[in-house]
Amino acid sequence: MAAFAGTNLFAVTHGSIIKKNVPLVGEAAGYVAFQQAPAQRLTDFVQGKLSYDLPDCSYLPGIVSSPIHFWLPESIGRRLQEGFKAFDRKMKGFFTAEAVVVGMESRSSSPVRILRQADTFEHPQFAGLYPCGEGSGYAGGITSSAMDGENCAEKVFNSKITGW
Ligand SMILES: Cc1cc2nc3c(=O)[nH]c(=O)nc-3n(C[C@H](O)[C@H](O)[C@H](O)COP(=O)(O)OP(=O)(O)OC[C@H]3O[C@@H](n4cnc5c(N)ncnc54)[C@H](O)[C@@H]3O)c2cc1C
Repeated sequence: MAAFAGTNLFAVTHGSIIKKNVPLVGEAAGYVAFQQAPAQRLTDFVQGKLSYDLPDCSYLPGIVSSPIHFWLPESIGRRLQEGFKAFDRKMKGFFTAEAVVVGMESRSSSPVRILRQADTFEHPQFAGLYPCGEGSGYAGGITSSAMDGENCAEKVFNSKITGW
């Protein structure tokens, strides 16, 4: 997979702008090696200000202040800012300086799919190999991975146990 790890592959996939930008956030701040996440107080994010300090956060490697509003593509950052403001009008108590915006979920479904046959779910060249779930490109979250896993298990059962 190393050959696919650069941004070029991601550049042709959906959501490419975020995927291209987010690694730069960490690299620019120089804390990738420590797995610390860029973070910003929610109120600062909405106001487009750098957070001078951050509250405690349960993210274990730790957080480092970073202008997430700056790193996000404008079309996404602005919508999030407006969304948080609208949310505050509907449900009080969450839009607070004690809330922290941590990094961003920069992973999504795998842009690469391992082949499998539509009827058996078996790899076309490797008998007994059943590509399954997120890593092989057939799911993009907990529920879809679970459902794909269940479907694969049924295929394995039908093939290996019942010979169907
Ligand atoms: C921080 C984070 C937050 C997330 N939040 C959400 C969310 O809110 N909602 C949502 O829907 N999804 C969320 N996801 C995505 C979701 O967790 C994944 O889509 C889902 O878990 C993928 O399931 P999977 O079974 O395909 O893979 P995994 O859950 O990754 O399972 C793969 C398993 O294979 C094992 N394995 C790997 N290599 C080998 C090997 N060589 N031999 C044996 N075993 C091996 C691994 O140890 C692992 O147990 C989140 C993911 C992350 C990382």
